[in-house]
Amino acid sequence: MQVVAGVDLGGTAVNYTFLTAGEQFLIDGLCEHPARSKEGPAVCLQQISDGLDIALAKVGLTRADVEVVGLDTPGPASSSGVLSAKGSTNFVHADWAGFDIRAGLAHKLDKPVTYLNDGNAGALWGHYTIFGAENKATSISAIIGTGLGGGVIVENHVVKGRKGFGGELGHVLLPYQSIANIQGLVPRCNCGRTGDLESVCSLTAIEKSFLPYFLEKFPGHELGALGDLNKAAKAVRGMAERGDAMCREIFRAQAHALGLFYDEMINTFDPDALIVGGGAIETGAEFQKWFVDEIRAGMPPQREEQAGIPIHIMPNGDTAGARGAAIEALSFAREGGLL
Ligand SMILES: [Zn+2]
Repeated sequence: MQVVAGVDLGGTAVNYTFLTAGEQFLIDGLCEHPARSKEGPAVCLQQISDGLDIALAKVGLTRADVEVVGLDTPGPASSSGVLSAKGSTNFVHADWAGFDIRAGLAHKLDKPVTYLNDGNAGALWGHYTIFGAENKATSISAIIGTGLGGGVIVENHVVKGRKGFGGELGHVLLPYQSIANIQGLVPRCNCGRTGDLESVCSLTAIEKSFLPYFLEKFPGHELGALGDLNKAAKAVRGMAERGDAMCREIFRAQAHALGLFYDEMINTFDPDALIVGGGAIETGAEFQKWFVDEIRAGMPPQREEQAGIPIHIMPNGDTAGARGAAIEALSFAREGGLL
C-alpha cells in the first residue's frame, strides 16, 4: 500500500504517522521513538530512520510503501528546513547550527522529504480537520502552549515566509491596554517586545505576568501560598475550569487578547475559519465553549459580514505535528503525481 509518512521531531521524542492516498491515518495516537537530538544530527537522523522502521512494522508496511516523508521540527529554521545557525533550544549540539535537516533526512532515507516548522504543521492539521485536503480555504491557527505558536494557511497553502518566519503569531503586537481588568500590567515577551500575543496568551505569560499581577489582587489565594510561580502557572488551567475566580480572570484576559489578535487577522485575511488549540484548552467541552465565547467578547465590533466567522477548537494536540507534516507530504506527492 502506498502511503506518506509524517515525522514530528520534538524535544525528546520523534512521533510517526502514516497517511494513505484515501486520506486515512494508520496510527491513532502517539507512536514515539527517542529523538536523541542533543547528540547531534548524525545520531538523531539514525534515530529517526530506526524509529520509522519500528512504526512501519506496527502497521504492517515497509519502506518501499512510503512515497514521501513529511518532517516537522521546532524552529527557527528556513522555509526549506535549514536550522538556524544561531542555534535553538532543541538543537543545542554544535553540528546542528545551519544544518539542512530536510536534505539530511532525504539523503538518509533516500526518499523525498517535505519540511514544516512545528507551529505550521499543527496549523495545517487544524485546517485539514475542518476543510479536508482538497480546498481553497484560508484559516488562522493559534496554539497556546508554553509559548504561542500557530500558522496561517491561505487558500490551502502554508505561509512559510521569506526566511521561514511566516506564522510566528506569538510576536504580533496587540493593543493590550484595551484588555479589561489588567490595567497597569506591562506584559513582556522573551523576544523583547512588550504586549505581543505570547506575552498575554501563553503558559509563560501566566507565570511571568498574570500571576504576579493577580496574586496581589487576590491576597491569600492558594496559588500564592505555593511560593513557586512555575508550579502555580501549571495549576491555573485546572482551577479555571473548576471555576476559581482568579484563574477565570487570567483565562478571560488570555481569551480577550486572542480576540484582539483574531480581529487583526480578520481584517488582514478575511479568513474562512479561526482555530485555537494547545494545552490551554485541553479541557472539557464546557470550558472550551466558555473560552471561545470570551474570545468573541474580546473582539472589537465586527462588520455584519465578518461577524459570523467560525472559531474552532483544534483536536488531537499530541499528534498534530506528525499529522500536519503528513498532510504536507500528501500534497507534495499529489502535485508530483507520486500518489
Ligand atoms: Zn514575543
